[in-house]
Amino acid sequence: MFQKGQKLYSIVHHRCPRCHEGKLFLTAPYHRDFMKMPERCEVCGLRYELEPAFFYGALYVSHALHVAWMTAAYIALRVLFNPPTDVYILVMFVGAAIMLPMTLRLARTIYINFFILYRGAQPPNRIAEGHQG
Ligand SMILES: [Zn+2]
Repeated sequence: MFQKGQKLYSIVHHRCPRCHEGKLFLTAPYHRDFMKMPERCEVCGLRYELEPAFFYGALYVSHALHVAWMTAAYIALRVLFNPPTDVYILVMFVGAAIMLPMTLRLARTIYINFFILYRGAQPPNRIAEGHQG
């Protein structure tokens, strides 16, 4: 659906934003270490944490994703069932809790794609030269 070179490819497949080949996460979304990322891309050598505490900014993206989920859940429930208020709250928060690992990973992937452009696979020896991003 999405091809390498498009930001959505990196976001949907959780791949390195620079080469679109290296994996951004070490485990599956519902594994205990679901947020663990390798320090660098295994293909191009991009250092994922661009600066200390870089991924704190992903919390804003995560917030936006949760707001989008809750808005979509509200509209869907309202149009399809029009249930009592407590059902809205239950569906929105249980749904958000179930999707939390995927949402947090997606937020990090979107956030790093704000800063890194696609360049294709490059040899990792550029790391020693200090080239990133
Ligand atoms: Zn890479």
